[in-house]
Amino acid sequence: MAVLLFGIFCFPIFLTGCGSEIEKENLYEIYAVFNDETKTLACSQKVEYVNTSDNALNEICFFLYANSFREGQKVVSDAYFDRTYPSKQKSFGEIEIFSAKINDISADFEICEDGNILTVKLSKILYPNEKVEIYLEYNVKLANIRHRLGYGNNTINFGNFFPIICVYENGFVKNEFSMYGDPFYSEVSNFVVEINYPNKFLLASSGNILETKEDNENQERNISVCRAERVRDFCFVLSDRFEKRTEIVDDIEVNYYFYDDEFSNEHLKTAVKAVQTFGNLFGKYPYSQLSVVKADFCFGGMEYPNLVLIADDISKDDVDYVIAHEIAHQWWYGVVGNNQFENAWVDEGLTEFSTALFFENNAEYGIEYEKIMSGATENYKNFLRIYKEIYDDFDESIDRNINSFRTEPEYVNHTYTKGMLMFDSLRKMLGDRKFFKVLKEYYKDFSFENSSSEKLVQSFSEHSHINLEKFFEAWLKGKVVFG
Ligand SMILES: [Zn+2]
Repeated sequence: MAVLLFGIFCFPIFLTGCGSEIEKENLYEIYAVFNDETKTLACSQKVEYVNTSDNALNEICFFLYANSFREGQKVVSDAYFDRTYPSKQKSFGEIEIFSAKINDISADFEICEDGNILTVKLSKILYPNEKVEIYLEYNVKLANIRHRLGYGNNTINFGNFFPIICVYENGFVKNEFSMYGDPFYSEVSNFVVEINYPNKFLLASSGNILETKEDNENQERNISVCRAERVRDFCFVLSDRFEKRTEIVDDIEVNYYFYDDEFSNEHLKTAVKAVQTFGNLFGKYPYSQLSVVKADFCFGGMEYPNLVLIADDISKDDVDYVIAHEIAHQWWYGVVGNNQFENAWVDEGLTEFSTALFFENNAEYGIEYEKIMSGATENYKNFLRIYKEIYDDFDESIDRNINSFRTEPEYVNHTYTKGMLMFDSLRKMLGDRKFFKVLKEYYKDFSFENSSSEKLVQSFSEHSHINLEKFFEAWLKGKVVFG
């Protein structure tokens, strides 16, 4: 495909969010051309970046998740090998950065040894509140892998495909790659993404698809223009097998993209109920679109703003649970963000707990809230017994970075299971009236912002009028004893 220049190509941008906030948020404009023969995505990307820190900057850092698929990196544990690689052999992908420009002038850039961080040098200091335009030309090669970014036999997934600016906290936060969990952390931004792809595919995406038209230069290709406002990432999925069902609820378009699903109507209903349930419990879903997308994926499900992946290999009995869990992430991860590498419990613990609330509020699924909690307690106790036999120095704390967990069960049992039990314990301590009031306030306080372990504890303490530091410390540092 031809290299596309921003001077020629014009993005229709009509951002409609609250003016002053949106102006401080980054704006990504991406033109992406997908080549189905080579399974590559050629991209031109412009980012308008505002220095919202108090420091002067001489470089901007981007996280390059696409490079976690490079040869030498490990993206899944050996136990997942068969369900991850459709061809039963390893396959690799990567991102190649061709050029960087700052305000239209060529800029130096470097990529660190691990491949996870791209640093673009600024030609002049960027002072607080100043804006800079960064242009990148790059190519993403997809691995044949049922993962966030990659292709299987049914779908082509474009999760975390583009260079995304690292969050600035007294320096850019440079997360490592990780096999477990979601090693992501980003700011709420605005996106205009134009995707050029063979017209045999149907497109599912974050934000709204404003229009889809035929490519004038090639009748067998379509161009779709997508816009997503105030979201912290942008994902899309292509498939020539997709069927689509839609239901509108409270002015939100809820879509289900699927293949081979005789229960598609029921699964769409679950998604609709999840949007309603969480909206009532925590605060309204602030976007006009949500897509639940069945996909080639190895880890059950994955959340992106306005779009969740649901793995096509999970059992029928688990689908509703995964849909509810991934949709709960729209509140915890999507609207209220956090560093998912450093404090995964902040979103996963609350999301797993919210999934239990979904079943408590939708009794027709026959899954009782108290049974989820007692089952989780038993599971955690069994896990603890086994791991304490294996490791003398076993660490029961929740609040630590993903790579400090030695195995995936250790990560899941702490951030999800123990995290959920912690919120259940807090609910019982505060009583429902106070607990849900506090949760709503927390959602309101951190909407479109990033929370953290400290911020969550502080917010919950403030809104409950009880100092909860000792409560959270006991759970997060591993002092709570399971007898
Ligand atoms: Zn999750």
